[in-house]
Amino acid sequence: MRFFYADTLDLVDPGFDFLADRSSPGRIPQRDDVYAHELMAPVRPYDGLLVSRFSVECMGSQGRYTRAQSQRFLRGGAQRFLRFPADGRFDPDHHPILCDCGAFNYRRDPEPPYTVEDTVEFYTLCGFTHGVSVDHMIGQFDAMLDEPNLVPVPTDWQRRYQITLDNADRFLRLSHAESTRYKPIGVAQGWSPRSYREAVRALVKMGYDYVALGGLVPLKTPEILQILESVKEETGGRLALHLFGITRLENFQAFRDAGVISFDSTSPLRQAFKDARDNYYSNGGHYSAIRIPQVDLYPKLLRRIRAHEVDRAEAAAAERSCLERLRALDRDEAGVDEVMEALHTYEALFKGNSKWRYVRRTLEDRPWKSCPCPICRAVGIEVVVFRGANRNRRRGFHNLWFTQQMLQRYRGEGRGESGHAPA
Ligand SMILES: [Zn+2]
Repeated sequence: MRFFYADTLDLVDPGFDFLADRSSPGRIPQRDDVYAHELMAPVRPYDGLLVSRFSVECMGSQGRYTRAQSQRFLRGGAQRFLRFPADGRFDPDHHPILCDCGAFNYRRDPEPPYTVEDTVEFYTLCGFTHGVSVDHMIGQFDAMLDEPNLVPVPTDWQRRYQITLDNADRFLRLSHAESTRYKPIGVAQGWSPRSYREAVRALVKMGYDYVALGGLVPLKTPEILQILESVKEETGGRLALHLFGITRLENFQAFRDAGVISFDSTSPLRQAFKDARDNYYSNGGHYSAIRIPQVDLYPKLLRRIRAHEVDRAEAAAAERSCLERLRALDRDEAGVDEVMEALHTYEALFKGNSKWRYVRRTLEDRPWKSCPCPICRAVGIEVVVFRGANRNRRRGFHNLWFTQQMLQRYRGEGRGESGHAPA
């Protein structure tokens, strides 16, 4: 089973100076910043990358790519843009790059914004190793609809289901006709165990041997397992499946039995700075990061300074004290209480809402000390500090690595580098 990281252009400055909180001298982000797979090389934080066409082509507030980046992607191709592998080779076995259309982004539209023809052209131009058919999300689940004659299936769900299958059929034919290099993957969308099963049956009949199940993200785990069980009745677990947006590795066995050979997720990275509490993955359970915002960049604090409610120099001293005591703790030269005191003092200035119980747990357990990943080895305690993209994304890279380690242990590839049983 392979783990694909759904890339969202999260790069870091490899020479960032944590003590001075400064970028490396003369840094040009487009040239010098690196991806997780570059920063951690030769260690692999994931097996492959997933890119969505929507993210590459969408400009403006919804997109992350600038026009220049988008043009560079189209001109040079996915391998060169993502430097995956480093020499830009087409390598579907060891450096797979999968592309889908990004159905979640256009789920509110009546139709997908892309045609099968321009999608085949896009995948070919960018040199992806795997191309996913143009689907339309249903994103609803109601197993009761599988009961005969109970209630009718909403027509919009049926329409989306049919669009997805019609597009998959055209996509496979056209991919074959054009002898494209990428491996075509057909998408199944549905609303119930039976509808997914029937979609998979239709895709197999078209000729697909690799099928992705879409629309699972909002579903509860038992619902996903019901769908997989139903699909398995059709395929006997012998058809290769991909799960879009699903990690939930505690179900590894059920996934494998159903034929799942790959999944993708971006949540290990996002949780590092989006989750209220679980920011750092570890065998001992997930840990909270420690919030030390930058005085001059934190709007809540800046507002209070401008309103003369807080003295800027006092805030800067409190911020410095937090960082100094944290680093002292890392060198065993300060205790947890001293750090907690500094954090309390600083946070009182901006009335933050840290969950102190969890902060204390992070400081007492010091999970980064025993983590063998290249990030924790290189930056130590900075990895658990919630502050700016260079720390927050590195913590996300650690989480990607941790997810990959868990997967390797489930796959039975030794005990993994940290030597613990799967959490
Ligand atoms: Zn680590």
